[in-house]
Amino acid sequence: MNSIAGNIAGVRERIKMACTCTGRDIAEVKLLLATKTVSIPDIQEALSCGIGLVGENKVQELAAKQPLLKQEGASFHFIGHLQTNKVKDVLKYADCIQSVDRLDLAKKLHERLCFENRTMDIMLQVNTSAEATKFGVHPGALADFAKQVAVFDTLKVKGLMTIGLFDAEQARVRNCFRTLRVLKERLQQYNLPGFDMQELSMGMSNDLETAIDEGATIIRVGTAIFGKRIYPDSYYWNEQQ
Ligand SMILES: *Cc1c(COP(=O)(O)O)cnc(C)c1O
Repeated sequence: MNSIAGNIAGVRERIKMACTCTGRDIAEVKLLLATKTVSIPDIQEALSCGIGLVGENKVQELAAKQPLLKQEGASFHFIGHLQTNKVKDVLKYADCIQSVDRLDLAKKLHERLCFENRTMDIMLQVNTSAEATKFGVHPGALADFAKQVAVFDTLKVKGLMTIGLFDAEQARVRNCFRTLRVLKERLQQYNLPGFDMQELSMGMSNDLETAIDEGATIIRVGTAIFGKRIYPDSYYWNEQQ
């Protein structure tokens, strides 16, 4: 069976198995639909299986889809590289921005939120694989970055996000996820204002078991639910987009 509902049942089975193996409560792990390039009817089918989280990588795509899907009651997370000139738009449509990775972006978000007199849930994106992806704060720079973000009282920091290595041995992937968990535990000890870090957003179709084993609370799954995408992921992780 290759329907979306069937694929979701398969992913849920994997989550359940992974939780059983590590002795975690299945309620601790949320499944986020990574919906880049996915059509509205396909997303609707997935949401009707009782999933409440959608993640988009591009502001234009989020802006086009969110108004058509918001009546299904899902939360929308932004998980892509965010340009500062898209801040105003992303704030219109996102419930959480997982990919905050630099000070000028945090500052722009804060300024706009001050103007609109509201707050926004965010996560800090960490580059745990150093060479493989270019986005995310370097682990060694995270503590300083977090302290600077803490000054912006409109930003409510809910946790950390990372993208593991693609196509690497699981031991190296595990290292990325473990790094993120350790960083979160360390940051929590600072008790920074505006930080309530419960979430570890890590793990995708190929490595969700490893991520759950290392403490993921949000796994972001696209391919295993919707099938292969026609665009290479580099299209979605490109500075120019
Ligand atoms: C595309 C994407 C995912 C999902 O990846 P799959 O391998 O298709 O499950 C997760 N996180 C981010 C940031 C993505 O861009």
